[in-house]
Amino acid sequence: MSRPLDVVIVGGGTAGWMTAAALVGVLKPNVCRVRLIESDEIGIVGVGEATLPQMKDFNDLVGIDEAEMMRSTNATFKLGIEFLDWGFKGSTYVHPFGAHGQAWGGVGFHHHWLRAAQNGRPWDIEAFSYAVVASRCDRFEFPSRDPAAIEATYNYAYHFDASLYARYLRGFAEARGLRRTEGKVVEVVLHPESGNVDAIRMESGELVAGDLFIDCSGFRGLIIGQALQSGFEDWSKWLPCDRALAVPCDRAGRFTPFTRSTAREAGWQWRIPLQHRTGNGYVYSSSFISDDDAAATLMRNLDGEAQAEPRPLRFKAGRRVDCWRKNCIAMGLASGFLEPLESTSIYLVQVAITNLLRLFPRNPVDPALVEEFNRLVDNEYDRIRDFLILHYHANTREDGELWRYCRDMEVPDSLRSKIELFTRRGHLPQYKDGLFSPPSWLSVLLGQGLRPQAYDRLADNLPLDELFARMETLHARIDARTAAMPGHDAFVRSYCASAEAVRAPALAGADA
Ligand SMILES: Cc1cc2nc3c(=O)[nH]c(=O)nc-3n(C[C@H](O)[C@H](O)[C@H](O)COP(=O)(O)OP(=O)(O)OC[C@H]3O[C@@H](n4cnc5c(N)ncnc54)[C@H](O)[C@@H]3O)c2cc1C
Repeated sequence: MSRPLDVVIVGGGTAGWMTAAALVGVLKPNVCRVRLIESDEIGIVGVGEATLPQMKDFNDLVGIDEAEMMRSTNATFKLGIEFLDWGFKGSTYVHPFGAHGQAWGGVGFHHHWLRAAQNGRPWDIEAFSYAVVASRCDRFEFPSRDPAAIEATYNYAYHFDASLYARYLRGFAEARGLRRTEGKVVEVVLHPESGNVDAIRMESGELVAGDLFIDCSGFRGLIIGQALQSGFEDWSKWLPCDRALAVPCDRAGRFTPFTRSTAREAGWQWRIPLQHRTGNGYVYSSSFISDDDAAATLMRNLDGEAQAEPRPLRFKAGRRVDCWRKNCIAMGLASGFLEPLESTSIYLVQVAITNLLRLFPRNPVDPALVEEFNRLVDNEYDRIRDFLILHYHANTREDGELWRYCRDMEVPDSLRSKIELFTRRGHLPQYKDGLFSPPSWLSVLLGQGLRPQAYDRLADNLPLDELFARMETLHARIDARTAAMPGHDAFVRSYCASAEAVRAPALAGADA
């Protein structure tokens, strides 16, 4: 097909507008023409407020200016996630966007750390992570571009107002020629022989034809699920949380450059600091707590005055059997759902978009491309699933049925073998495609209380006194450098203060 493909995106949430911005930002009009349909009446989920460092790559790819985007969405910086009470009540650790220490003699730092502990020097491993130390004292600055510098050993992501982000992307895409149509889709018209999507019918009666349809209709999965019957692989036996209550509150307390996740009796609570407010939510399993008790727990545990009533959301963990079927590709919640514990949903949208751009078809249905796309997306989902299950499974909490259930449940073989390799030899999962990297696995495996019985024997090559001296120097360097960083609040105010934050004096530096 030499003419441009007509691409129709159904849905204008984060997934729809990210896809639209990427297609018009990256592909030329002779490759595709894009139209997006959304219904203001139906609205969007609008709760995806925490992201991963890959988000910056997406912005760069599409041509989005970081400071402008952050100003427009009341955004703040994120160096990782702090987990409170997860392994057991009273425990705390940070999953940082960065490494712990340095690999010496070709051996991962944690092996040296274990050896030091077994030889009478039980350091806290977090003291060797630049991102964790900076997080703990609420400091932020951009990582160094010098790969040899200790200040280059971390990365960052954003917290933002998801509704404002969708609005920002809309402005970006419309300025580049995207056509938006407001209204409800009421029917998906399939070709009687091929079963491909020919068109969608709007409530107004208009028939919108296209070559390729991107289903960003959210949990409904209007095209991929309802019309094309791509089934749903249910993972709720491993990830039993199926509901959330979300509520914003006034900004109060620390202005942290990290998301906080606090384990509760039947799930966990998030705290996400934005410039103008703090986002909060309780993700829980309805099998282990009532909605009323969950709401009371959430409202009891806010930093500031609630700005609204808690908003209920329902979901099921799992993914579509095929995210690309016929001439339809599902993105975002239409493709599946993994709970927001590690802020992975927007990342999954980004991955699907990047793969679509890489495999962008000349003909709307090309089985080899479809198969490859689905393989890549499935792989991402499966890897994240195992990482999330680890947080629940490796616990010694005694205070709730959920925790006992998760501790006793059978986990997927792919996770079981990772846990075994780590506890026997300190071995970390390492793969080329997909989340998460070895430093992430390390922080959660250790953070949840697992300890290797033995370290890599190559670590013994370093004389003990030299090891202790290197560790002391590294520790001291991280402490000194992070102490010289600006505060997160001051950095945000100078780099990307939003109009709303500047207008409200209580927010502009009161807790700097
Ligand atoms: C409790 C919770 C917390 C979350 N936190 C995070 C987080 O911290 N980080 C993260 O990365 N992700 C998070 N997510 C996930 C994130 O919110 C979503 O991945 C993201 O918002 C994408 O949603 P979406 O665009 O797929 O769907 P939606 O936002 O639901 O958008 C669906 C769109 O489809 C349109 N639509 C639907 N039906 C029709 C129709 N018939 N006709 C026309 N239009 C229609 C709607 O109008 C809307 O525009 C969270 C999700 C939940 C539930």
